[in-house]
Amino acid sequence: MLHEYEMYNNERRRHIPSALWPFFAPDPEKYYRWRVQLDCACITELFTWGNETPPSESRWLDGREALPPGQLRCEHDDGPSPYREIIAWHDRREITLPADPADPPKWADPDVWALLRHDEPRASAFWKVTLECGHVEDSMPTDLDWKPDDGPSLADSARVSQMTEEFEALWASHPDFQPDRDLEHTRRMLAAGWPLPRPETECYTCPHVRQIVAYQRVGWLVPREAKQQTEPTPQGRNSRAALERRLRRLEVDAEHLRGRLSEWDDVRDV
Ligand SMILES: [Zn+2]
Ligand SMILES: [Zn+2]
Repeated sequence: MLHEYEMYNNERRRHIPSALWPFFAPDPEKYYRWRVQLDCACITELFTWGNETPPSESRWLDGREALPPGQLRCEHDDGPSPYREIIAWHDRREITLPADPADPPKWADPDVWALLRHDEPRASAFWKVTLECGHVEDSMPTDLDWKPDDGPSLADSARVSQMTEEFEALWASHPDFQPDRDLEHTRRMLAAGWPLPRPETECYTCPHVRQIVAYQRVGWLVPREAKQQTEPTPQGRNSRAALERRLRRLEVDAEHLRGRLSEWDDVRDV
């Protein structure tokens, strides 16, 4: 592990000025190793900065975004992306998309395409948003001049009734037009008066993250030599005083663990 870390660190230090190494490519001495088990049953190893904060309370990166505490990406044959409510809007970038082609793509027949097609190039703002699950998505489209303080705008109610009829007819004639979860999303949009920007969006992170359910201390990434040198001799380790000291340490640890367990129960009871 240490060897791997050093190879990785040497490589990244080639691109980082040495004054910044302590922040972006630190020496391995401060890292502590943990073995963790996820709720998908996978077991992996993680490093934390110091040995105080357990990995289940740390925030781990998924790409450039931090996941909620104790979550880690672990991909399996995961299900579809669920819709989640947007709870915060952050920064935005602008992108111009070309007009859609006049001919329908393979998956749409001409009537469906007429309903969906954009016939002019259009510039949109794409926002980074936080969803109710705590995950971040960074391509939530809005009109260029929209700001979060504006809130969503609703479509004209006559237009919403007309769209509702059109969608109901579309779903009746094309039962496979949308998967159920998209259809339910469209129904919620129609029922809410077609608010734009949409108050919910798909979370592409949810299906692929797991929770840390157990962890075990492995030790410092760089084994602590000093400690090993002061390790008592077999004789000293078995003296009555040494045994008493060990017992007291174990009792303190047990008390600490009981405290953690009852916190855990409190959280579950809520
Ligand atoms: Zn897994
Ligand atoms: Zn999510």
